Amino acid sequence: AGTRAAMAEAAAVSRPPPDVDTDDCLREYRHLFSPDILAGQVAFITGGGSGIGFRIAEIFMRHGCRTVIASRNLQRVSEASKKLMAATGQQCLPLSVDVRQPQTIVAAVDEALKEFKRIDVLVNGAAGNFLCPASALSFNAFKTVIDIDTIGTFNTSKVLFEKYFRDHGGVIVNITATLSYRGQALQVHAGTAKAAIDAMTRHLAVEWGPNNIRVNSLAPGPITGTEGYRRLGGKFAEEASQFDMIPLQRAGNKTEIAHSTLYLASPLSSYVTGTTLVVDGGSWLTSANNFPALLGIASSSAK
Ligand code: NAP
Repeated sequence: AGTRAAMAEAAAVSRPPPDVDTDDCLREYRHLFSPDILAGQVAFITGGGSGIGFRIAEIFMRHGCRTVIASRNLQRVSEASKKLMAATGQQCLPLSVDVRQPQTIVAAVDEALKEFKRIDVLVNGAAGNFLCPASALSFNAFKTVIDIDTIGTFNTSKVLFEKYFRDHGGVIVNITATLSYRGQALQVHAGTAKAAIDAMTRHLAVEWGPNNIRVNSLAPGPITGTEGYRRLGGKFAEEASQFDMIPLQRAGNKTEIAHSTLYLASPLSSYVTGTTLVVDGGSWLTSANNFPALLGIASSSAK
């Protein structure tokens, strides 16, 4: 019985916490970290109206943080903020920004500072992605992804630096991806954009460390209940049992990404900067990058 109990306990260390697939708050939540670990703080979260960003906002708020959630669609972030405030009892300010346009970020950060008087954490979550082979990708499509993901992350980080972090310190968490690690087929645009953000993380960690600013990346694997999962073939992978190839043999969920983001945003990681935390169940090590099938070249190369 002792062995069985030990095994059950061992399994618990990689058991996913409950989640919901829609952009709604969790129906149940059990704190693993101290509930006041972010008490009194304010987080500015781009892409906070949906998917992973929404759950990050919720988990931060459940740990005492007030949030600003910002993206292009004001209606989306406004509806999200109502749900977040109702579920957590914390304040959440929805704002419209296009991270490609620095003046919209300046206006949003000014408004956030007027409302909350401080910003402690920046989460750069805004991004765009789709599957496309390089041969079919237009010049403009490639540029758009670099503009939103890479340049958007720089724009937002720089505005926060100038407006607040330079004088008060802060934490930046950039949401990236593992796509470039093995040259994932159909993902040259997003893989390139996210690899550049991981580089930016290291450069900014070096330059801004003396200002008490920590900068890290978090690279998720396949995460259920997200636009990324729906658009990039998550359901197909699930049905084809492809997740059996992942060391932990399953996709991750949004709460798991939010928990790792909370770690990077909190004093638990006070000596962590300039690094990328991969949160993918070991996926990038073993998952298929079946380029002949994905590019549809299997039959022609066999000739
Ligand atoms: P998502 O719900 O589509 O999140 C992307 C968010 O970015 C949206 O809220 C969108 O809101 C916002 N956004 C897009 N363009 C913007 C712009 N120009 N300015 C401001 N905001 C903009 O997708 P997700 O799957 O949860 O992804 C969240 C993050 O995790 C992304 O960085 C993604 O690359 C990363 N990631 C996801 C997975 C996954 O499995 N889902 C895996 C690896 C990495 P608006 O449309 O209102 O602007």
